[in-house]
Amino acid sequence: AKEEGRGRHRFFEQEMDARAQARRALELDLRRAFALRQFEVHYQPQMKLADRRVVGFEALARWRHPERGMISPAAFIPIAEEIGLISQIGEWVLQTACREAAGWPDDISIAVNLSPVQFSSPGLVTMVIAALRQSGLAPERLELEITESVLLQETAATLTILHQLRALGVRIAMDDFGTGYSSLGYLRSFPFDKVKIDQSFVREMPSDGDSNAIVRAIIGLGVSLGISTTAEGVETQEQLDRLRAEGCTDIQGYLLSRPIPASGVGDLLLQLHS
Ligand code: C2E
Ligand code: CA
Ligand code: CA
Ligand code: CA
Repeated sequence: AKEEGRGRHRFFEQEMDARAQARRALELDLRRAFALRQFEVHYQPQMKLADRRVVGFEALARWRHPERGMISPAAFIPIAEEIGLISQIGEWVLQTACREAAGWPDDISIAVNLSPVQFSSPGLVTMVIAALRQSGLAPERLELEITESVLLQETAATLTILHQLRALGVRIAMDDFGTGYSSLGYLRSFPFDKVKIDQSFVREMPSDGDSNAIVRAIIGLGVSLGISTTAEGVETQEQLDRLRAEGCTDIQGYLLSRPIPASGVGDLLLQLHS
């Protein structure tokens, strides 16, 4: 049994080694990928339930690796944050999204994700101003999505940046709402324009009573605060009907469309509005 234990231990070490190596390879690839223009931005529609019109798209980063194919942002964003590449990638996503959205109908907005790390590096506001100016996109059409973790170290500096961004006319949405800590307090510390209900709650609807209750509570909060609520990860008509009945204002999810390249946006709008 002792031998067996040792063998298992060695296997575990090898496994760790392999994983650490794969991770280092990914790090090196990631540094190169930027220079080699391997990143893309895909767009996923958001629909207003009141009139079933598409009101905006969320920009989602994609990495087309020459050997490994598409790599999920869930895999490379955390590494980019760790090795200090996220600000460059984030700036490129913002510039690309603003430029492409500037060519869409002007009642359609663009939502861009900001990493908490971008709030710690200087020049975030300047970067947003530059992206708006270079693209000619009206600030009112840009929405920035931040997670609760941005407010976790609620420093005066963070709030100042958020207020400066909002003063430009840009909207601020709270992403993944309900998954962080003491969410309600954060809503008081800054006037968000929108709350996005995390897909982990939407996914369990309508079979799971707890998830239904949480979603209802978040929508109620949005109504009380006079801000819109976007439910993420809506995959079924049943979920849509339920969300509408609860008073949710907007939805996003595979039911409407998966994230698509900019080249498909025009056709998708025609299709969703027909
Ligand atoms: P997120 O901001 O919560 O984005 C929503 C994610 O849910 C996207 O995954 C989207 O493709 C996926 N999704 C949308 N509808 C559905 C659905 O109906 N069902 C399911 N199962 N999934 C759905 P994606 O594109 O893989 O992005 C993962 C995360 O990576 C994002 O989560 C965001 O946190 C991060 N991310 C993506 N692009 C950027 C970026 O440019 N900057 C930063 N900082 N983070 C990004
Ligand atoms: Ca998001
Ligand atoms: Ca989200
Ligand atoms: Ca998420």
